[in-house]
Amino acid sequence: MTYPTAFSIELGETITASLANRLSFTGELKDSRAFICDGDDDCNAPLTCANFKTTKNERKNNPYFTEGARKANNHSESCSYLVKKSNSSNTNKETSSQVKQSKKLKLILGKDGFKKPQPRKQTHNTLSPQSNSSLTATYSVNSNGDKERKYSKSHVKTLRTLVEVFQSGEYDLDNTKLETLDSLSLNELFHSLDTPSTLSYQFRVYFGQAKIFEKDPDKPYYIVEFTKAHNYSNPTENGDIEDYPSFAVSKYQIHKNYPWSKQYINSTDTFTCFVSWFPTTNKGKKKTFINFEKVTPENYLFQK
Ligand SMILES: [Zn+2]
Repeated sequence: MTYPTAFSIELGETITASLANRLSFTGELKDSRAFICDGDDDCNAPLTCANFKTTKNERKNNPYFTEGARKANNHSESCSYLVKKSNSSNTNKETSSQVKQSKKLKLILGKDGFKKPQPRKQTHNTLSPQSNSSLTATYSVNSNGDKERKYSKSHVKTLRTLVEVFQSGEYDLDNTKLETLDSLSLNELFHSLDTPSTLSYQFRVYFGQAKIFEKDPDKPYYIVEFTKAHNYSNPTENGDIEDYPSFAVSKYQIHKNYPWSKQYINSTDTFTCFVSWFPTTNKGKKKTFINFEKVTPENYLFQK
């Protein structure tokens, strides 16, 4: 059996196999066996990422998760993969997207969206290393002194992973609900700014084509501006306004995290921008504008 996503022990969140492949080259992931099933909070079935550190030319198939040689059936009773598997033996074969239909994703958000990832804890207890060394790092000891093998499946902790899930084609976007955020579906959470819409003070992942420019060489920030105008319904303040949503980003962060974006600065070329935040309105000198105020670097993402 193959699995499109798995919980990465090294990252502490659920990721797709294609992201695991990419992160193997950045060094953020080191062990192709440091994955467990994400079919259920209680399921800890070990999984291996096949074609973990391979380039397109080196492999026949795209990366995927599998039990590999570890055939033992370690899934929990309530694991959604097991449930689906036993159902599907009576009916036709199901696609991976159907498997994911009933799934709920949990986003780990602070009141201001995604938080800065904490440095990952290395072995933090005195347990002797297990034979499966990839799992020892997250073993902990419970109050009875027993080692606990239960992982908290925090699912999605970063905007990068959320975008990856959204773009992977492995989730049913209308039926995959978010456990946080009032059970919105992925399609409800992601709000396209490429077609005119009405915005309000709501946390969503806003995305679309944007450009970046320097407003003032003496200031430490650039402005990112989406290319389509939107309305903001603002009955109490200034009435409805229309504007191109924008936000400020630190020059330092952009140079560090998106060196490729250099050629876009002050150019009319656009790139895809995601921002997980609250749109609001602000009064400038000449007009009222729509912006995302004080966005932290964890809450925006650029894609070429
Ligand atoms: Zn499982």
